[in-house]
Amino acid sequence: MIETDLKLDVAMGVTITARNARGRAARIGPALDAILANHNYPPALETLLAEALVLSALLGSLLKDPSGQLTIQAQTEHGIVDLLVCDYRGGELRGYIRHDPDRLAEAGPHPTLFSLFGKGYLAITFDQPANDERYQGIVPLEGEGLGEAAQSFFSQSEQIPSIVRLAARKDAAGWVAGGLMFQHLPEGEEGRERLHTRLDHPEWPHVAILAGSVKPDELTDRGLGLDDLVWRLFHEEEEVRTLEPVALAKGCRCDPEYVASVIARFPPKERAEMADDDGLIRVDCEFCATSFPISLPTSDAA
Ligand SMILES: [Zn+2]
Repeated sequence: MIETDLKLDVAMGVTITARNARGRAARIGPALDAILANHNYPPALETLLAEALVLSALLGSLLKDPSGQLTIQAQTEHGIVDLLVCDYRGGELRGYIRHDPDRLAEAGPHPTLFSLFGKGYLAITFDQPANDERYQGIVPLEGEGLGEAAQSFFSQSEQIPSIVRLAARKDAAGWVAGGLMFQHLPEGEEGRERLHTRLDHPEWPHVAILAGSVKPDELTDRGLGLDDLVWRLFHEEEEVRTLEPVALAKGCRCDPEYVASVIARFPPKERAEMADDDGLIRVDCEFCATSFPISLPTSDAA
C-alpha cells in the first residue's frame, strides 16, 4: 500500500461488480505544476495539457503490465495546435504541445477544442511489452473536449460503453486536474467478446448517470480523497471496491548520455556540422523543454 491520502498525484481503480462496471479516478497537483512549469504555455494550452495528462493517468493506470506505456497523441494538419503528446509509464507522466502562438493569441482566452485542433485526430496507444501487446485506436477529435473524444474512442473503436469526465483549474495553490472514467464490462475485466457487449444492459445507464453527475469542482477539489469522491457518487451501491492506488509523478526518459553515445558514432565532420559556434551539440527534449549541451570532439585530432 502506498503512503497517500488519495487526494493528489494519485490514481485509483474502482469496481462495482453488481453493475458490471469498472472505474478509474485520478488527480494531479504538484506533479502537474512541475510538468507545466517547464513549458511556459499560455493558460488555454496549460488547461488542455492538464486535461490530457489526467486522461493519460486514467488510461495508463488500466495497464496491467508495470512496464507498459500509454500514449495519447492529438494531431491536426492546420490547427492552432498541430501536435499534443502525453504518455504514462509506471505512474510517470510527461507531455508537450506544439502550437502556433500568433494564431492562438487571435483565438482569445477560451478557445474551443475545435478552434484549437480544427479537423484533428486522437490516437491512443497501449503498449504492453511483457506480453508483446500493442494496440492503437484512432478517433476524430470532436465534441466539447478531450474527455468526450476519449469517450467516443472507447465506445466506437473498442465497443466499450464508457464515460469520461476531466477538469483542470489553477488557483493560488497552483494547478490541479482531476478525472473520472467508468466503463461497462459485462464480460468482466478479461472479457474478449467485446463485440458482443450488449448496449442495453439496464445497469450501465445507471452507472453512467451517477458517474456523469460528478462536478468539475469535485474533480479538482484538493481536499476530497478519490475514495470519498467515488463513494459520494455511488453510496447507494451495495459494494464498491477500490483497488490499489498508483502514485503519479512527473517523469521523463530523455537520456543525454545515451544521445551522446549515439552522436559519438557519427563521423567528426558531421558532428562539427551539428555543433554550435562554441563547439557544443545541443539536444532538445520537447517533453521537459530542456536543452542538453553535449561536448564531443568535432575534429579527427582526437
Ligand atoms: Zn525529457
